Amino acid sequence: MYEEKLISGKEISAAAKAEISKKVAELKAKGIHPKLSVIIVGENPASQSYVRGKHKDCAECDILSDNIALPESTTQEELLDIIDKLNKDNTVHGILVQLPLPKHIEEYAVINAIDPSKDVDGFTAVNVGNMNIGKDCFAPCTPQGCIDMLDYAGVDLCGKDVVVIGRSNIVGKPVSVLALQRSATVTICHSKTKNIAEKTRMADIIIVAVGRENFLTADMVKEGAVVIDVGINRNSEGKLCGDADFDGLIGKVSKITPVPGGVGLMTRVNLLKNTVKSAENVEK
Ligand code: NAP
Repeated sequence: MYEEKLISGKEISAAAKAEISKKVAELKAKGIHPKLSVIIVGENPASQSYVRGKHKDCAECDILSDNIALPESTTQEELLDIIDKLNKDNTVHGILVQLPLPKHIEEYAVINAIDPSKDVDGFTAVNVGNMNIGKDCFAPCTPQGCIDMLDYAGVDLCGKDVVVIGRSNIVGKPVSVLALQRSATVTICHSKTKNIAEKTRMADIIIVAVGRENFLTADMVKEGAVVIDVGINRNSEGKLCGDADFDGLIGKVSKITPVPGGVGLMTRVNLLKNTVKSAENVEK
């Protein structure tokens, strides 16, 4: 019963990784070895850990990856110079700048210096624009991961009432667009929304991306709803948890994603997918 309700990121990402490895082998046979370049500025421990995870994932699927670790004192000009070199390097298929950047560097300028054809995070204005009008693009990894999980679980979005809680540029807004493109009726809630529970109780699918432990509780969902939990928080015992009260919700929902082992793994695997897609585009 419990197992049937779980949309497991572990299961989906393992299947996706096998598929990615196969594509990498095919590309290598044609003389193209997919490669991701990751730039990290400064020594934020959380960022360093995320970056280590990205290299480990690449290695698992035989994707090349290089790590460009720069000191906190790096100037915007120096960073733009490095991006320019990577843009021109034909052996590099994906460029990722780990966020956040130090305060003296303008994030928007740096992200938009990345050649959109190598923007495997899907954060450049060109990719965001193309995603919004439904054109081919690198979809941002976390929002696409949410949709992938619904697909894998056989949840059709067409005509469904979807409530997204959170409106950030990296999760809430793009996942709303992707759900709309699947013909869902989408309501976006944020910190100024009145009576969120009234809205979530009407929802067939709730995607919660707030960053607060136990934000979504059983009284806020209707029987049989589907919950995609994007949140990554630490509870009072220091354990990883999402935004949804998993234990309270499991008896009421029809499907739910766990944290850990949920959306986070999909984010990671979609970065690999986008890197391989970029390498495949070179071939075309
Ligand atoms: P964010 O930029 O801080 O955005 C949070 C959103 O939640 C904002 O839109 C904010 O509304 C809204 N919000 C805050 N308090 C609220 C409240 N009381 N009621 C309703 N809405 C409220 O965060 P984010 O980057 O989108 O990330 C959200 C969560 O997802 C975090 O826990 C983050 O760690 C996690 N995350 C996970 C992954 C993954 O791979 N699983 C990837 C990215 C992020 P306003 O806009 O009005 O302020």
